Amino acid sequence: MPKLYQIPAFADRPLEATPNTIGTQGEFSQGAIEVAQRTFSIVKPDAVRKGFAGAILAEIDRAGFQIVAIKKQSISKQQAKGFYAVHAGKPFFDGLTAFMSSGPLVLMVLEKENAIADLRKLMGATNPASAEEGTLRKRFAGSMTENAIHGSDGEDTAAFEIGYWFAGYELI
Ligand code: ATP
Ligand code: MG
Repeated sequence: MPKLYQIPAFADRPLEATPNTIGTQGEFSQGAIEVAQRTFSIVKPDAVRKGFAGAILAEIDRAGFQIVAIKKQSISKQQAKGFYAVHAGKPFFDGLTAFMSSGPLVLMVLEKENAIADLRKLMGATNPASAEEGTLRKRFAGSMTENAIHGSDGEDTAAFEIGYWFAGYELI
């Protein structure tokens, strides 16, 4: 089910017809638009190094995702630690954050109905050895660490991750 975001009732009317209801329920009572769900994704440094970024983007496009925002950059270990803070203290944390800061990556905000679950499906299992045939990790990942692509795993994490890497004005 796509989320419904209500738009101000006066959005399609001339300004002078706008009721003075700012801050009250009335302002939001007349209109609603459907918007697709957003998720956050990274083409990880291994895939960029191996020249797979274009092929991965093509698959994402073919699967029906819109690219809302995209940028290629290198990140510091400190930035990687903040991004993967949920894994802090785990035995693989140091290796994971060292890898993520080892070279340029591609950061993206993607949009589509059911984007979060559908991207995870397209990615395949964390360990490429157990990823399903045809998934991005099966095709492009080399190992549990060098696993080609990241995708948010829930609505809360998607919101955090989009805000961690992109400013509001970049999401148009
Ligand atoms: P990502 O968050 O990068 O999309 P994921 O959601 O499939 O991957 P997570 O459990 O969030 O998997 O782990 C983040 C990353 O940490 C994984 O992509 C993997 O590289 C690494 N990782 C996770 N579990 C292990 C593990 N048991 N041993 C080694 N590395 C691991
Ligand atoms: Mg994860």
